[in-house]
Amino acid sequence: MKYYFGIDIGGTEIKFGFFDEMKRLLGTTKVKTPTENVREELVDLLYDIVIARLQKEKVTLDSLGGIGLTIPGPVKDGVITFCPNLNVGYDFDITSAVKEKFNKPSLKVVVGNDANLAAYGEYKILGRSNLSNMVFITLGTGVGGGVIVNKKLVTGFSGSAGEIGHIPFDLNNGRKCGCGGVGCVETVAGTAGMIQTANDLMKKEKSIMKDKTLTPKLIFDSAKEGDLVALKVVDSVSYAIGYMAATISTIVDPEVFVIGGGVAQAGQFLLSKINYHYQQLARFGTTEARFELAKLGNDAGFYGAFYLLLED
Ligand SMILES: [Zn+2]
Repeated sequence: MKYYFGIDIGGTEIKFGFFDEMKRLLGTTKVKTPTENVREELVDLLYDIVIARLQKEKVTLDSLGGIGLTIPGPVKDGVITFCPNLNVGYDFDITSAVKEKFNKPSLKVVVGNDANLAAYGEYKILGRSNLSNMVFITLGTGVGGGVIVNKKLVTGFSGSAGEIGHIPFDLNNGRKCGCGGVGCVETVAGTAGMIQTANDLMKKEKSIMKDKTLTPKLIFDSAKEGDLVALKVVDSVSYAIGYMAATISTIVDPEVFVIGGGVAQAGQFLLSKINYHYQQLARFGTTEARFELAKLGNDAGFYGAFYLLLED
């Protein structure tokens, strides 16, 4: 029996999924992401946890089928090009570093961008893999995603495919984006963008959110209660995402958009509003695309990393 690790490396925590070759999830572990001397500490930490788990199964390193890693930033040919969320500097060849640590050049190590692999995880499980074209949208602090075309994950030339939150949206809104641009979808539909819209509106309009700490949850809950400011914020988010999806559709023409990330907890309320705007903006047969909620939650990344291991 071979064993595999799908490991989702985030800016604050690292989630491990431990699988066997029958594709069964045998266990999960969560640890804090190192913040100092990250290159070394990170690889040491991965090594320690993998070895400990193999020992628990009473098997040797020979039974390790591979390690799949997700990174919160662009990845090109197994190298982390630049990742502000992880503080590893430029061009960190994590693939080679892991192989060296295990002292096993033949060890299979695959690395991918977190949103891309979350997309792949969502795609491979729960019966979606009979689809050929699917786009995953993650709504949280940022807006990200992953694109499956002809059953394959699209990573692109520079490893930046799926950075859909940076589709230019409203270039005149004057809002700076984390990517360095102005007016990306994320500046309206990301957490900071939503809060800014709410604050701007509350300068002129009454709201039950006044003097409360603004969060996406508060905004969506208030919208569900009928608060007009909150409803306008939700509408601006839904319009931005509907616009983004319609734009993607002209290129990819997916059967399904899967919506995940923390903000997706707003559920069907959000989905129906996105779909409303999408239907106004979509062209040709792309109006047939449907919107679904993600099913794997925070586990999507390590599932995707595991399935990528089986693929390559
Ligand atoms: Zn941007």
